Amino acid sequence: SQLSTILRGLIIKNTGSWYLVKTDEGTYVECKIKGNFRLKGIRSTNPVAVGDYVQIILNQEGTAFINEIEDRKNYIIRRSSNLSKQSHILAANLDQCMLVVTVNYPETSTTFIDRFLASAEAYRVPVNIIFNKTDAYDEDELRYLDGLINLYTTIGYPCFKVSAKTGEGVDTIKEELKGRITLFSGHSGVGKSTLINAILPELDIKTGAISTYHNKGMHTTTFSEMFPVPGDGYIIDTPGIKGFGTFDMEEEEIGHYFPEIFKVSAGCRYNNCTHRHEPGCAVREAVEQHYISESRYASYLNMLEDKEEGKYRAAY
Ligand code: GDP
Ligand code: ZN
Repeated sequence: SQLSTILRGLIIKNTGSWYLVKTDEGTYVECKIKGNFRLKGIRSTNPVAVGDYVQIILNQEGTAFINEIEDRKNYIIRRSSNLSKQSHILAANLDQCMLVVTVNYPETSTTFIDRFLASAEAYRVPVNIIFNKTDAYDEDELRYLDGLINLYTTIGYPCFKVSAKTGEGVDTIKEELKGRITLFSGHSGVGKSTLINAILPELDIKTGAISTYHNKGMHTTTFSEMFPVPGDGYIIDTPGIKGFGTFDMEEEEIGHYFPEIFKVSAGCRYNNCTHRHEPGCAVREAVEQHYISESRYASYLNMLEDKEEGKYRAAY
C-alpha cells in the first residue's frame, strides 16, 4: 500500500515465527519476515536475530514486515546438528559476554573457561569473567580464585567477584551492562539465573509492556529474547546459548585465540609452529619461564588434540 510507514528498530525477541521490534521511537511492533527474504547469501530459516537493527514497513492494516537488515558487527550461530549444514543465527551485535563461573559448587574447569574465551576471540566478542558464589568459599578456594583472577586479568579479561546470593558485587555488574548488549553464559548450576534475577529485580514490570506478545512459539529452538536493563542496555540469556562453536577453527588458528600465546609466537622459529614439539618454540619457552600459565597451555593443547582427532566438539 502507498500509505505505509518505514521505521528503524532493534529486534528484541525472536519466537521463530515472528519478531518483536523496538523502534527508535520507543514503540514495540510485532513483525514477520517475507517468505523470500534472503540475507547476503546466508540461507537460513531464520535470517535475522535478536540484536539486529532492521528497517520495518508498517502497513495501514497494522501488519509489519522486516524489510532490510543493517550490517552486523558480529553474530553467533548454532548449527542445528553436526551433520547438518543448517545453522541458526542466535544473536547479533553483541558488545560483550559475561561468563559466569564458580571455583566450587560446582567447579568450572579452566579447560572450559579457556575454550570459551578462545571461541569468543574468534567471534570477536569481548568476555568478562564473573566469579560467583564468593560467599561460599573457604580460604583455599579464595586463594585459588585470586590466582585465577590474576591470571585472566593479566591476559586482558576483566574479572569480577560476585555473590548473587548476598548481592555483593552486583552493582558493579549493573554498571558494566549500561548501554551494551550483553550475552550471559555459564554452566548450569553456577548461579546465572540467580544473578540475572538480582540484576533485574523488577523483571516482570520491565517486560510488562511486551508481555502481551508472549506464548506462540516460545519453546522453539530458535526462540531468543533480550531483556532491557536500566541505562539502555540489554541482556541475552537464552537456554540454547551455552557457548560458541569451535567447528570452524583451523589447527594453526587456535593459537591466535589465546592472546598471550599469540603474542609470544612471533618469536617461534617456524611460522606454522603448533607449539608442541617444534625446535625453537618461543611459546614452550614462555611456559617454562612461567610467563604463560601451564593451565592455559594445557587448554591450548587440549583444543589442538580435539582438532587432530577430528572431534568437532563444541566449546562447552
Ligand atoms: P544456573 O543454573 O546457573 O541458572 O544456577 P541457579 O541460579 O539456578 O543457581 C544454582 C544454585 O546455586 C541454586 O541453589 C542457587 O541458590 C545457588 N546460588 C546461586 N548464586 C549463589 C551465590 O552467590 N552463593 C551461593 N552460596 N549460592 C548461590
Ligand atoms: Zn611455537
